Amino acid sequence: MFRKNYHFGVYNFFQMFSFSFWPGNTNFSFLKRRKELSRIRILSEQLANKIAAGEVVQRPASVVKELMENAIDAAASEILVLIENGGKDVIRVLDNGEGMDEDDLLLAFEQHATSKIALADDLENIRTLGFRGEALASIASVSMVEARSCRQDSEEGSCLTINGGEIQKVEPVSMKAGTHITVRNLFYNTPARRKFLKSPNTEYAHIVDTVRRFALGFPGLQFSLYSNETEIFSLSPSDLKKRIADVFSGHYAQKLIPVEGMDGTASLEGFVGGLDLVRKKGGEQYLFVNDRLVNDRLMNSAVYSAFSPMVDKGEYPFFVLKLTLPPQEIDVNVHPQKTEIKYRNEWQIYHFIRNAVSLALKDNLRVVPSFRRPDAVPTAPRYTGRTGGAPTAPGLFPEHIPAARPPEPASLPEEHPLTRRIRQFNTMQMNGDVPFQNGRTSVVSMWQAHNKYIFVQIASAVIIIDQHAAHERILFEKALKTFSESSAQNGQQLLFPVSLELAPDDFALLGEILDMFKKLGFSLRAFGKNTMLIEAVPADMHSIQEGRVVLDILDSYRERRTTRHDKTYNMAASYACKAAIKTGDPLEPAEMQNLVDQLFQTESPYACPHGRPTIINLTLEELDKRFKRT
Ligand code: ADP
Ligand code: MG
Repeated sequence: MFRKNYHFGVYNFFQMFSFSFWPGNTNFSFLKRRKELSRIRILSEQLANKIAAGEVVQRPASVVKELMENAIDAAASEILVLIENGGKDVIRVLDNGEGMDEDDLLLAFEQHATSKIALADDLENIRTLGFRGEALASIASVSMVEARSCRQDSEEGSCLTINGGEIQKVEPVSMKAGTHITVRNLFYNTPARRKFLKSPNTEYAHIVDTVRRFALGFPGLQFSLYSNETEIFSLSPSDLKKRIADVFSGHYAQKLIPVEGMDGTASLEGFVGGLDLVRKKGGEQYLFVNDRLVNDRLMNSAVYSAFSPMVDKGEYPFFVLKLTLPPQEIDVNVHPQKTEIKYRNEWQIYHFIRNAVSLALKDNLRVVPSFRRPDAVPTAPRYTGRTGGAPTAPGLFPEHIPAARPPEPASLPEEHPLTRRIRQFNTMQMNGDVPFQNGRTSVVSMWQAHNKYIFVQIASAVIIIDQHAAHERILFEKALKTFSESSAQNGQQLLFPVSLELAPDDFALLGEILDMFKKLGFSLRAFGKNTMLIEAVPADMHSIQEGRVVLDILDSYRERRTTRHDKTYNMAASYACKAAIKTGDPLEPAEMQNLVDQLFQTESPYACPHGRPTIINLTLEELDKRFKRT
């Protein structure tokens, strides 16, 4: 009906237009002829709805989404979704919301019929999930619908049947308050689109995903999903943490880091997953803005960026975050499926999200049970030669382990790394810092296995450190810090400068990033065509193959250039990877000690710049369990 009026209106307008601009043609036959000749015509209501349906309804999951949104907007506390054959044959969404009377039920299926907005200004102030008034009309135009609804204050409901957009019948039914919509044979009258649907399994997976999204967005509501009469979800009202565990798996709950942020009128809350929940593929990232799940690359990247010291490109942390903003700050009417929004001030929001997540990560990722950073121990116990005794301090280093030493005095420039190693080893022995628990039983508390892993005994666990990853993390953070400061790191002069002959393109690339090399403590000097003279290297670089390291850094930097990180990040990561202690390098006890101490002074000791873990914490509890002691 609505469409007919509209049609009429356009026609009148056309007449007026013709009369005023073609004064000589005042008879109707001209207009008629023009209409006949015209290639442009107004579409029938049904065809227009079908076309609109193409935007709103792409697959069974879109129907589920629209119907669930309506149920939530109708303040339902319980929503039941039933599907058959991946939703291709049947989709039913039942809610206990406020319901509709017969008039409203009929109106609801008209195009542009909505109870949610009335004036253009209302678009600025949307608090409901729906507002476009086109979902039901679109769905009904491409399927067979039965809609039953009963208002809270009514004894009797109505049942409306519509096939392909044409009303078949309306009759009274007896039912409880709420709305039950059944959509059968989706796209039965648009065979091309029906053919386009994927296998029932694929469509089913999309529906599960859709229901999961709502379940995460509204943990306080009860949701059930049945597929071919089998229960898939049955979720009772709960809080977000429990809901996450319910829809993913129980182990998620232990790995969640709470996020909370407030900035003026914006607030953010929810959870990000710890490093264990980082996946190689995306899909477990949920950002709700004013309760609407939105797909927003920029805001997702704000979260990734907070994770970036620990997570590499192509790795996706888990998150469920809820951003709340005054409705005027966003425009939700930019996408027919309402999955995208525009922000009035997107960069401000970006930084707000990134900071809130960074803060949450900082506070939480440092905490490995029973492990504290040495700098957090107020009076670091030093090895005193005391014997035995179970350590009682809950802190990181029990007394039988030599504690964090004051940092080494900066090495003298002329000292060669090998000389330094020997010096360190000697100093350690002279100080009596031998990591023995007591003189007689000689239990070593820190040792290297397979020239690869360092085992450290701590109060209630054994930690295992990947020596390369750990050193990488240390060098990485140090490099990043250096790049952000004005002064360069001290280099260590080589007794015999090394000359490095490069391919012209390598030489050019080295030229581009020479400044960063210098800041790290390298001293490089162009020496003839395509040759560099290495005169000094960073003091904490491990390798004594200086030329090789410079080349390796260059190669790694070249590869990394395509990542989303900036120059300094890529350089720091390349340097860290190539200058670090390698797997296979034997380490002296003092070197191990130094490594462990430094690792725990970094910002993110638990992962190398590639996001791989640096530390595994094997608790006594776990060992006891494995040996069936408990
Ligand atoms: P929109 O949600 O954008 O308003 P729809 O076509 O999805 O448009 O729905 C049209 C109208 O029908 C809604 O505005 C609402 O008043 C009514 N309606 C739809 N579904 C329900 C429901 N489950 N319970 C109560 N009212 C509903
Ligand atoms: Mg709707």
